[in-house]
Amino acid sequence: SISLSQVKDAFHFIANRMVDSKDMLTQADQAIGDGDHGIGMARGFEAVNNMLEAKTLNNVEDVFFNTGTSLLASIGGASGAIFGSFFMGAGKALQGAEILNAAGYQKALEAGLAMVKKRGNASIGDKTMVDALEPAVDAANQYSGSSLEELAGLVAAASHEGMEKTKTFTAKIGKAKTLGERTLGHADPGAISITLIFEALKEYIS
Ligand code: ADP
Ligand code: MG
Ligand code: MG
Repeated sequence: SISLSQVKDAFHFIANRMVDSKDMLTQADQAIGDGDHGIGMARGFEAVNNMLEAKTLNNVEDVFFNTGTSLLASIGGASGAIFGSFFMGAGKALQGAEILNAAGYQKALEAGLAMVKKRGNASIGDKTMVDALEPAVDAANQYSGSSLEELAGLVAAASHEGMEKTKTFTAKIGKAKTLGERTLGHADPGAISITLIFEALKEYIS
């Protein structure tokens, strides 16, 4: 498990990774969307970095939940609502936890996915971030051990595999939908983002 102050550090680490990935995410969204995903995510995670400095965060729920509200307020567009919902849903499930352990991460992931689906109504195969998130949640739910490090590794790997698979899908939802077959061969930008988030958390923990 990791302590509250480590969770805050981990979220800085994730936020910096997302800011650094701005150009790569912009290119991904230029290929099959309107090209603003990198700008949105960078702006969102700069807001997260500022929030982590400015706000009193009393527990792990606060860190996740306020990350969600910061993203929601600063990104706009589809991904503001979707990524905001993920972290808000995940936060609520943590219920004032003072540390982040494997069981908490499992609960958080599952609740985050539920919130994303409630908000955006996407299913596997629609070529969205759900294609990377849902396999990660499934992998987490299959894990019966108690090592947060091991769990974070499984989650990152499953998410990465799901993201790669989006290259074989035509978009059924969002801005990429109108491009249809032209989206083949390109990974979904939001799926890349959620994978970057899980990979950064894994790197921080290990
Ligand atoms: P916009 O599409 O408004 O320009 P972004 O480019 O920032 O927003 O984000 C696009 C990403 O948002 C997509 O790649 C996809 O992963 C995700 N997305 C869009 N709509 C949905 C949805 N309904 N459910 C889940 N994810 C979605
Ligand atoms: Mg876009
Ligand atoms: Mg847009």
